[in-house]
This record gives sequence, structure tokens and C-alpha cells, in this order.
Amino acid sequence: MSSPTDTPDAEATASDAVEPAPAASGPAAAIAKYLPGRREALFMLGGTVLGGTFAGGAWGASAMGGDSSGHAEVAERDDEEKLSGKEALKRLAQGNERFAHGGAAHPDQTVARRRALREGQHPFAAVLSCADSRVSPELLFDQGLGDLFVVRSAGQVLDHAVLGSLQYGVAELATPLLVVLGHSKCGAVKATVEAVEKHSKPSGTDIDALVAAIRPSVEEAEELGATQKNILSISIDMNVERIVEQLKTAPVLSAAAKTRKVKIVGATYDISTGEVEWL
Ligand SMILES: [Zn+2]
Repeated sequence: MSSPTDTPDAEATASDAVEPAPAASGPAAAIAKYLPGRREALFMLGGTVLGGTFAGGAWGASAMGGDSSGHAEVAERDDEEKLSGKEALKRLAQGNERFAHGGAAHPDQTVARRRALREGQHPFAAVLSCADSRVSPELLFDQGLGDLFVVRSAGQVLDHAVLGSLQYGVAELATPLLVVLGHSKCGAVKATVEAVEKHSKPSGTDIDALVAAIRPSVEEAEELGATQKNILSISIDMNVERIVEQLKTAPVLSAAAKTRKVKIVGATYDISTGEVEWL
């Protein structure tokens, strides 16, 4: 999961660091460089450094008072508290640490919390995730009512309704963080990989729109020489990165990102380990 360059202080690089890609000396060199790891593939492809990861315990022990077994007490969130994008991301990472290691605290799910939210909502993060039933943001980030503004579609594909929802979350609800969350074994990406490989004809259903949206990520992975073994995972990451870039240039969101009102980051969730890896 983590690369040797990861540091506990990696949050500063999660979305802010944009460095030039190293000069590639041809496709063969690029492929040779990326095959050992998916991060490197994205590095070569996107031309940006995508930062370290938070998975794997970078914050875990200290965030939970050194109790590595989890079961932390998590105070009800103060809705009036203003979090920065970085603080919001840290909160999600801590919640995922709890969840992944069996110590979910299930905060903000009391009757009192529900009642306190009658007058309005102040979610501290917006999450665009896949509709997959195994990828429930409130569960995997160990959050509760009023905490996350969640938009979901298969393959977390964008359309006008999804984009409009996210724009509302950022502009009207002032969420300081927007996470694009892909996941391992994503069926939507898998179906697209198969459609590309088999040169399948469109089905004539609206599922074609999902395939069309994910297809460029799969084709790009293919062009880089992804193998049968790693094309799905590389395509999944590339799909997340592509959506992050689309959001960063979208109306409303791009302006908010430029003025640092919102931090837009990508992540993938491993449905087996329960861990979120920040891209
Ligand atoms: Zn999926």
C-alpha cells in the first residue's frame, strides 16, 4: 500500500503538490517504470505527483490515543466547528483506521444527534463514490448523520446530476473536502475493461453511458502496456484520477478549489482490507 516515500506528514501533498513529471525516454521506459506499482503508473501518466498515502497506520495509533486495537470513543461532532480540507481529510482517515481494524465508533448516530440536525446540515466532507453495496462511505469512514454529503453512481461516473449535487455540496453547504472514492474489484470498471477487450457493441441501455465514461481510463491503461493481471486495478485508479481532474476544472468547483475553499482528492477503497488509500 504505502510507498517508501510516505511520511506521516504526507497530508500536505495529498492535493497540493503538483510537480512536473520526470522526462520519460519512450513508452518502454515508462512501462518498465510503472509496472512495479500503480502509483508510479499514475505518476508517469498524469504528469503529477499524487502524494503519499494515509493508509497503513500513518495516523492510526496516535489518532486513537495509542490504542491500536481501536474501539475509540469519538465525541459527537460539533457542527459549528469549521474544519480545513486537511483537517477534514484527517478525520476521514482516522475514521477509516477505526473501521478497517474493527474499532468503529459509530459516531453521530444517536437520537440526540438526529434531533440536533433538524435545523440544518454542515457536513465536513463531500464524497463521490461508487454505488457498489460494499462501499458505503459513512460506514468505511466511520461517520454518522450530518457528517458526509454523499453522491454515488456506478464507477462514480459524472453526469450533470452528480456534478450539480457536488456543486451544491461545496457551494451551498461549504464542505471543505471533496473525495472521489473508487474501489477494488469495481464492477463498472471491470465491465468496461471487458467491453474494450472484446470490442463489444453498445447494449442500447443507459449502462452504455457508464462504459463510455470509464472507457478512456481503460484505453489509457492499455496504451501504457497494462497486463491482464493489472489492467483492472490501474484502470480503477486512472478512473479516479480522471474524475478528480474533471472536478478540478468543473464550474463552481474549480473556483472553489483555486481559492482553497475546497480540497479535491482521489482515493481508493480496498473491499478486502477495508483500507482507504489516498491518491
Ligand atoms: Zn464500483
